Amino acid sequence: MNLLDSFKIILVEPQNPINVGNVMRAMKNMGLHRLTLVHPAEMDLQRTQISAHRTEDLLESIETVDTLDDALTDIHESFGFSARKRTQTWASLEMESAIARSLTLARNDLHIAFVFGREQTGLTNEELARCSCRVHIATSDYTSLNLAQAVLLACYSLLRQSRIVPAEVQPLAKLENYAPGTRPATQDERIRLLKCLENALVQIGYYKSPDPNTAVHRVQNLLNRAEIHNDEYHLLMGMIAEISNYASLMERGIEPKKIRPAKSFGDDQIP
Ligand code: SAH
Repeated sequence: MNLLDSFKIILVEPQNPINVGNVMRAMKNMGLHRLTLVHPAEMDLQRTQISAHRTEDLLESIETVDTLDDALTDIHESFGFSARKRTQTWASLEMESAIARSLTLARNDLHIAFVFGREQTGLTNEELARCSCRVHIATSDYTSLNLAQAVLLACYSLLRQSRIVPAEVQPLAKLENYAPGTRPATQDERIRLLKCLENALVQIGYYKSPDPNTAVHRVQNLLNRAEIHNDEYHLLMGMIAEISNYASLMERGIEPKKIRPAKSFGDDQIP
């Protein structure tokens, strides 16, 4: 199978058939075949052919879905492209490193999506949070590229980097270092973990400010760097569930039972 077949381009709510046509042209030029439109504006897709010569095959295989979640069901890692520059809470990768990472993932048989936003307003924060990584394409101070030009730059970089064949496929750290029988946590699992963490934090009154997303976005960055495995996902989910149970019992005035571990981690260091 061609390496680039592991990649899918997702356009969220595209409005203009000419832009969709230019995206198809860019994809065809760079050797990508899988295009998904999430809830596109009413449009005559035949009009895409005005700007996209010789892309009939792509046009026929376009997948149209209602939500971004639907588009991501068969995807292991998704990269959300945003014109917004990184901030402390919105870590984003520069495009070249994002592409290099995506190729390492694809060489380890994972399926990848590049997600692009609406022509006028880009991706919402919720949609960006749904992606495992945010990506920024370097520009001048005027950061907002035309949708199809952003796709072209991403696909061009992907094609170029895919041709630099590594001497040996770099295994993901997680595949090397972890227990046999485990697998990388899926994107759905990581998102579910964050949702449960957020709910538990609300329950225990962690949030003092009305901007709850900040802390969870930072934990999301951490999870992405850590490349957690499914057994670790279950461990963390179990811990979070216990914190939630504890909080619910306390709310109902019931004293929860406590069992101390025989020797807790770090006892030696704590005076
Ligand atoms: N005005 C919008 C930009 C929309 S451009 C905004 O500020 O978000 C349409 C899409 O092209 C964006 O959602 C993004 O996916 C992509 N895009 C445009 N410029 C980009 C850049 N500099 N880096 C990464 N993606 C970019």
